[in-house]
Amino acid sequence: MRPLILGSAGSQPTPKAGCTCRLCTLAREQGGRARRTGPSLYLPEAELLVDTPEEANLQLTAHGLTPRHVVWTHAHPDHAAGMRVVQFLAQSANRPVQGWVPRPLYPVLAERYPLERLVDAGYLELHLIAPSRPFDLGGVRVTPLAHGLEEPVFAYLFETASARGLYAPDHVRSLPLPEGPFDWAVVQMPIPPLDALPFELPPNDEAWQAFYTFDQAVEAWRERTRQLVFTHVYESVGMTPEELDAVAARAGEWVAFAHDGMAVESAAVPTPELDRLERFRAEQARIERAYADDPKRMRAELRRLWARFKKG
Ligand SMILES: [Zn+2]
Ligand SMILES: [Zn+2]
Repeated sequence: MRPLILGSAGSQPTPKAGCTCRLCTLAREQGGRARRTGPSLYLPEAELLVDTPEEANLQLTAHGLTPRHVVWTHAHPDHAAGMRVVQFLAQSANRPVQGWVPRPLYPVLAERYPLERLVDAGYLELHLIAPSRPFDLGGVRVTPLAHGLEEPVFAYLFETASARGLYAPDHVRSLPLPEGPFDWAVVQMPIPPLDALPFELPPNDEAWQAFYTFDQAVEAWRERTRQLVFTHVYESVGMTPEELDAVAARAGEWVAFAHDGMAVESAAVPTPELDRLERFRAEQARIERAYADDPKRMRAELRRLWARFKKG
C-alpha cells in the first residue's frame, strides 16, 4: 500500500486568513511544506478518499485524483466540511460515488453537512456500516474502529495480503490501539518535547489529557509499526517543518511528521521478518473467520496471537 497524505493540517490550516504568526507568515512567503490544508488521506489501492476537509476539491485537483470511494472519520469541519467534492466526482464519472459511514456517525454527519442532499441528488450511494465490521474495497479490507469517546469518532484499519496500515488522524488518545504489527500508521501528532515547543505548556493544561506526549507516542508504536507518521499538524503549535523534522529524528528514521502531498513509503523489510508477518496475517485471518459471530472471543484470540508475535 502506498497512501498519500493529501492534507496534513490540524483543526485549522496554515496559513490562516489574517494570522500574522511566525508560521503563517513563513507559509505565505515560502509555501512548500509549511503550507498545510485540512487532514485527509488517499489510498490508491482502494481508490479511497478518507475525509473531505474544506480544501478537498483543491487537494484532489492538485494530484489529479478522482476517488470512487469515500469514508469519514468524524463530523468536525476539518474532516467533513468539503463534502460537496463528492458532487464533482460523481458528475465527472457520471455515476454516484460510493460512501461508507459507521452508523453512529451518520446522524451527526447528516445534521451538519449536505449528506442527504448528495444522496437524494444521486451523487452519493451511501452504505451504513457497523463499527469494527470490515468491508472490502478493491482487495483492501477496510475496518472502521471506534474511539472511546461519547462523540462518534472513527479510525480506519487497512489490510491487504501483504500490508497493514492505520489512519487515525484525530483524537488518537481515545483510540484503543489495535493489535498486531503495522507497515504504516498515520496518526494525530503528539505534544512535541517541551524543549522544542516554542511556548510554555503549563502542567495543568488540558492538552496533557487530550494528547500523547512525543515519548509516549513513540513508545506506544515502537516495534509495532515500520513507519510512523504524525499528521494533524497544528498551526497553533507554531513549529516549522524543519523544527518538526528535528523532533522526529530523535526517535529515528521510522518516525516522521507529515506534509501535504507526502507519500508514505514502507521501509524494506528483511525476508525472515516478512515471513513472520505473513504467518501472523494468515493466523489473524483464520481467527477472524473462525470467530466472526463471537467478537469478544475474536478479540481475546487476537490479543493472544499478538502477545505470541511480540515475544518473537
Ligand atoms: Zn481534526
Ligand atoms: Zn498563524
